[in-house]
Amino acid sequence: MTTAASCIFCRIVKGEIPSFAVYEDAHVLAFLDISPLAKGHTLVIPKRHAAKIEEMTSEEAAALFKAVHKIARPICESVDARDSTIAFNNGPAAGQEVAHVHCHIVPRWQGDTFGPIHRMFEKPTVSKDELSQLHQRIKARLR
Ligand code: 5GP
Ligand code: ZN
Repeated sequence: MTTAASCIFCRIVKGEIPSFAVYEDAHVLAFLDISPLAKGHTLVIPKRHAAKIEEMTSEEAAALFKAVHKIARPICESVDARDSTIAFNNGPAAGQEVAHVHCHIVPRWQGDTFGPIHRMFEKPTVSKDELSQLHQRIKARLR
């Protein structure tokens, strides 16, 4: 299990590992991905160690999204992109490799051919009944 002491992104927050930081505030750090999927690929992380989104406080989550909102356009403009894919791999089953929450901001260009995240999935067949049951199950857990 990754702990804050062994976590590579915690070490970046502490300055023990260098990074190209583009934004910082009390809760959040954003820096360029070392192995970018596209020019300008940036990671936005909470400064406090949390492996998954669910482990963040609502204050940290709000700060993270506020930072994404603030920096997405300047990042894209810096590489002449108008659009971006903004995503989290939230947990190992979703392909998360670094166990410290990070939001990927990946600039996108018309015709770059990578498509939407929908391409990652093979859609299951879901009936209206199943949608309705699922709707109830989720709402029950949110009460
Ligand atoms: P994940 O697959 O966990 O969603 O993405 C982890 C990301 O972290 C990858 O895109 C990878 O390139 C990036 N990464 C891993 N180690 C480092 C590092 O030491 N510095 C920086 N800047 N990025 C890193
Ligand atoms: Zn960490």
